[in-house]
Amino acid sequence: MNSSILVINCGSSSLKFALIDSQNHQACLTGLAEKLGLADAYISFKFNGAKDTLALQEGNHSGAMHAILEKLQQLSLLDSVKAIGHRVVHGGEVFKESALITDEVIAEIERCAKLAPLHNPAHLLGIRTAIEQFPGLPQTVVFDTSFHQTMPRKAYLYAVPMSLYREHNVRRYGFHGTSYRYVAAEAAKMLGKPLEETAMVCAHLGNGASATAILGGKGVDTTMGLTPLEGLVMGTRSGDIDGNIFSYLASELGLDINGVTDLLNKKSGLLGLSELSNDCRELEEAAQNGHQGAIVALEVFAYRLAKHIAALTVALGRLDALLFTGGIGENSSFLREAVIKQLGFLGLKLDDDANRACIRGNAGRITTADSVPALVINTDEELMIAQDTARLVGLGA
Ligand code: ADP
Repeated sequence: MNSSILVINCGSSSLKFALIDSQNHQACLTGLAEKLGLADAYISFKFNGAKDTLALQEGNHSGAMHAILEKLQQLSLLDSVKAIGHRVVHGGEVFKESALITDEVIAEIERCAKLAPLHNPAHLLGIRTAIEQFPGLPQTVVFDTSFHQTMPRKAYLYAVPMSLYREHNVRRYGFHGTSYRYVAAEAAKMLGKPLEETAMVCAHLGNGASATAILGGKGVDTTMGLTPLEGLVMGTRSGDIDGNIFSYLASELGLDINGVTDLLNKKSGLLGLSELSNDCRELEEAAQNGHQGAIVALEVFAYRLAKHIAALTVALGRLDALLFTGGIGENSSFLREAVIKQLGFLGLKLDDDANRACIRGNAGRITTADSVPALVINTDEELMIAQDTARLVGLGA
């Protein structure tokens, strides 16, 4: 039996996992536990294409992890698991790369929790539960922020009093780093160039969306900031906004800080603009049927993205390739077209047929032969976490 790595992505009420084979890099077993903390918590598994779902006896993270352990035993896969890799959103300035879990690492993730109060506590819960249920296995953490730690200070500093940076960690961190690392390496292979010699902008467009300038394989600027709110228009997040909106809305609507924060993170973006949905596919269908809200939302999304892509090329000095990934980047030929058509001055020329062909797992080049290449690449954050984990525990996969 091949060795494998269990990759865990733990949220406050959900736990996503994948068992990645160290040799062939395939996910042989995947699953998702949802509604953790509620009476109707459940877990679903996918093994060799077959799906099954069961209600969790103990409807919390510990119960979900125990169900995974039992499933691995049932499928005679438990002995193949050599280590566990955890996704962690925020590693602050301390974690410049992935790390083996120790007490000190856990304490440091705890210290970073104030920067990601919704995410890090949930990851810590997942880590502690995994240590409890799989006591003999080495475990690692892979951070969304690490990739961006190579940003120069001119890119990561906000123009606010320096004491806020020194004493309160106020700076731009950036997210989606695991995806960027994977996609940049894949893009270099597709371009037939050493990664160290590339200058690329990558747009990771999912429910959360960001874009990053990657020079020689290293992150040099990105659109997300202290938190994932900054930058592009997202499913429910506003992206760039004037900070004074807090005092303005407080007086206009009588909202407190939490009320405005909630409005900008959960009720804005595509959802807020369209007054219909945060789901890009649904909005494209509605726009085709003439829904004005959907048309406006997609227009603002595409313009903001094109504007940020152009801005990020300043950090590169040139553009070797533009990369699209994430659910929207990998599937929405409509938005890719809308973005590329606004970037002709950077040397990008769309190949309409190639663009339409790159959906549902089809990756490839979507620009003409005489254009700066734009590539669609299917991201694989789980594989990246598994590879980091294998390396850190000395599996060499
Ligand atoms: P997450 O950030 O939650 O991982 P995903 O990367 O799965 O999100 O991306 C989800 C987004 O991708 C949704 O807005 C969804 O509508 C969009 N999407 C998926 N398939 C398509 C498609 N065929 N056309 C347009 N948008 C799509």
